[in-house]
Amino acid sequence: MSVNLQTPIDYLKGVGPNRANLLRSELGIHTYQDLINLFPNRYIDRTKYYKINQLQRNNAEVQVVGKITGFREVAQKRGKRLVADFRDDTGVMELVWFRGQKWIRESLKTGQTYVIFGKTNWFNGKFNMPHPELELLPEHKKNLRTSMQAIYPSTEKLANKGISNRVVTKIMQQLFLETKGRFSETLSETIRGELKLLSKSDALFNVHFPKSPELLSRSQFRLKFEELFYIQLQLIIKNLIHKSKIKGFIFDKVGDYFNTFYNSHLPFDLTNAQKRVLKEIRQDLGSNAQMNRLLQGDVGSGKTIVAFMSMLMGLDNGFQCCLMAPTEILSVQHYNGLLEWFNKLNISVSLLTGSSKTSERKEILENLENGNLQILVGTHALLEDKVKFKNLGLAIIDEQHRFGVKQRSKLWEKNKKETPSHSADKNEMKTESYPPHVLVMSATPIPRTLAMSVYGDLDISVIDELPAGRKPIKTVHRYDNNRLNVFKFMKDEIAKGRQIYVVYPLIQESEKMDYKDLMDGYESISREFPMPNYQISIVHGKMKAADKDYEMQRFAEGKTNIMVATTVIEVGVNVPNASVMVIESAERFGLSQLHQLRGRVGRGAEQSYCILMTSHKLSNDSKTRLETMVRSSDGFEIAEVDLKLRGPGDIMGTQQSGVLNLRIADIVKDKDILEQARYYAKMVLKLDPSLALPEHQVILNTYRQMGKYRNIWNYIS
Ligand code: ADP
Ligand code: MG
Repeated sequence: MSVNLQTPIDYLKGVGPNRANLLRSELGIHTYQDLINLFPNRYIDRTKYYKINQLQRNNAEVQVVGKITGFREVAQKRGKRLVADFRDDTGVMELVWFRGQKWIRESLKTGQTYVIFGKTNWFNGKFNMPHPELELLPEHKKNLRTSMQAIYPSTEKLANKGISNRVVTKIMQQLFLETKGRFSETLSETIRGELKLLSKSDALFNVHFPKSPELLSRSQFRLKFEELFYIQLQLIIKNLIHKSKIKGFIFDKVGDYFNTFYNSHLPFDLTNAQKRVLKEIRQDLGSNAQMNRLLQGDVGSGKTIVAFMSMLMGLDNGFQCCLMAPTEILSVQHYNGLLEWFNKLNISVSLLTGSSKTSERKEILENLENGNLQILVGTHALLEDKVKFKNLGLAIIDEQHRFGVKQRSKLWEKNKKETPSHSADKNEMKTESYPPHVLVMSATPIPRTLAMSVYGDLDISVIDELPAGRKPIKTVHRYDNNRLNVFKFMKDEIAKGRQIYVVYPLIQESEKMDYKDLMDGYESISREFPMPNYQISIVHGKMKAADKDYEMQRFAEGKTNIMVATTVIEVGVNVPNASVMVIESAERFGLSQLHQLRGRVGRGAEQSYCILMTSHKLSNDSKTRLETMVRSSDGFEIAEVDLKLRGPGDIMGTQQSGVLNLRIADIVKDKDILEQARYYAKMVLKLDPSLALPEHQVILNTYRQMGKYRNIWNYIS
């Protein structure tokens, strides 16, 4: 164990200052440790040699033995390229260099036998290999070849500067030489025993230099497990620390507001999922730890009433609550939707948005501070510094993905004042100010395993059941040249009294074009559905907020038949009488967006429809998206497909993608390993929360090391 893995990479034999700089800047390799954790992307068979007449046009990497029979320079648009004819006994191919031609020309000899390795292209009726790796045959024979040679991640710059895969492999060999291939164990014996894991040293050796396919796959399993295990361990520890350190108000009473509502005003039976989630929330609120919970539920699964009843728990315990939504439309809708219930219970509630009038705002802020106002609904206007509560007990954020962690944390400072003394330990309560409990709600379901990793600091509740009696939305895919039929269908639905959304994409980069599409579409719909028989609303991002609201309002009140819109209506809007969603250029939307849009219909008693309009030109991914939409209405299933198509980074947005910066595991493909890792991380901490047992020494050490050298906390939240 004499070699310290934190040794800077410059010290490794064969790595001079230039290479060290490149490894640092291109691959983030600073130390021995970083290098050992540079895992191959894939493996290729270097025991196999191709004859030139066996080459296939599949652009794969191949190895060929032959001789260079001549060089020539070929002029091209910029500069020239160097071409060599390369022959074996079955044919001829070309080797091509665009750079470093002088050096190549001088160092390569015709008539000698070389082994070349690289990707082949088919060009002008011949195979060629640009920038091949070359070795003289005798030299080649000296090196060990395996059927699974590691191919490491690279960059164009590395390749240009001569740090080829062969060089990286050599450096890696050197590292194993210097360390004698011995690496400290990082998992406990129990875990290794139960899962029959390879030792750390064996796993590292075989992942870089596999002795057999079996050993390779066992190595990969072990290393993936380890990576995910430590991430889960850290997330769970963080969560435990949060629970033990960050105290919260205890809502221990179930009082009049809640009971009255539950017994006399509940408009429908709660689904079992809603009941379960309410119970989870109640447990948190009663626990003396600050709640930090994510409520996931598909569109229409009934998150609002859960939010409402949670707020009643807050009120019953003498606290104020707030409900925040990402847009003005949504917060107005929440406010209007909940007003009736609040009124029935005699609860004071106000709405605060960017367009609240100054006088109104003043009154709201006053009543908030003196405690006359019990509930505040609004947009992120709630986060402004001037907004101070007397005693904010619970903050609910709807449509979480629009708010970042930063904004969530702003809510914590809303209670600078003395807090009410309702609890047993009054002294503590008087001097300390607790942050409010926080419930964030998201209608973008993400697979649970991913949620666990991305929102590691949150507990998660899921409403996985729609209210009974919902008619599934019928979803179809139609091509543009079928538009007349679609219009006919729309007319029939309008004749039945239904309303219709027609949605156009508005994607930032091509905004002008999209805007034109929208306006063209609006015109053609206006022609097809003329006044006075038909009324049409239009809403898009270039309109003033007041105009948008006015149009939305007209549509919501049933004064217009058709709402032509860009995706501004995507989230949360509730018009139960709207039963048809036509999505134009549906191939340009992402899956989760399509699913969100579809969720705007199917909210009433009538059969609802979603029509996905596209041109005939569809990429494979687009086809998969459309097929998925037609086949499934399950948000979680759709999210899984989306995840597979787009990868996790895109789904979560750049903000959180850091957490998915895994070295070897793949959060989508290795879901099962992730589950196991989480299970073991939980078990270990349950048995031994402070990792004090001798058996867990190795875990504690590794955990500390990681904290020291790779600040995982930074990228978790
Ligand atoms: P979302 O989860 O998308 O926010 P909402 O809370 O807006 O969903 O609920 C969608 C619709 O379903 C609303 O009209 C709501 O009143 C209704 N709803 C919610 N829960 C139930 C239930 N248990 N039974 C019947 N209808 C329900
Ligand atoms: Mg909602």
